[in-house]
Amino acid sequence: MDLRQINKIYSEKSTEERLLMAWEEYGGDICMTSSFQTQSVPLLYLVAKTIPELPVIFLDTGFHFAETLAFRDQLINDYNLNVINVKTGMGHDNFKMQYGNLYEMDPDLCCHVNKTLPLQEELDKYKAWIAGVRGDQTDNRAAMDVVNVLEDGKVKICPIIDWTKKDLWTFHTRNELPSHPLFVKGFMSVGCAPCTRASNDDTDERAGRWSGNCKTECGIHTHIGKKKDQ
Ligand code: SF4
Repeated sequence: MDLRQINKIYSEKSTEERLLMAWEEYGGDICMTSSFQTQSVPLLYLVAKTIPELPVIFLDTGFHFAETLAFRDQLINDYNLNVINVKTGMGHDNFKMQYGNLYEMDPDLCCHVNKTLPLQEELDKYKAWIAGVRGDQTDNRAAMDVVNVLEDGKVKICPIIDWTKKDLWTFHTRNELPSHPLFVKGFMSVGCAPCTRASNDDTDERAGRWSGNCKTECGIHTHIGKKKDQ
């Protein structure tokens, strides 16, 4: 079966069915990544209901808000998630000693050292990767399908790629899901503390990320997660 046919089958299934199909196909060779912010909760909730054994990678850059770490721990506890905390190989203290506030001078390099490299190393242990991206978030994400083959041959499954922002919040409200503690303070999207601010821009939920910089992605879904045909 070619990728187009596989995507046709996946696209006709519910999100829970997509997760189960991916688990059946790849079993112990599949993981998920999550940034544990409010928008991550619907997919984490569905994973907990359908495939709680799934390894969920959290990139612990050392720059997170304390609220993010607390929210991660709350969700691990409430949903009994199988979370793997991944850090940069050199350790955060060494990174700070060697690079200082690199996020001010070269955020791309900072993301590369703290996110892309450690994630690539972790993902190399698996054949497939589940990501909670939506097509309406960025142009890059709009080009993704439910099932994607990446440049390195890994399969990236995006079970909510066709959810809209409205779908996500409707699901969140209907299921009375918890929110990141900073959400009520205007943080629609939460990344590392030095690179995230509150934003009132309802039209762009990622407006508070790398604000004032043309950067819109950390590299996880562009460099590592690049589709073979992109
Ligand atoms: S989001 Fe900011 S602090 Fe975090 S790794 Fe990227 S540049 Fe560094």
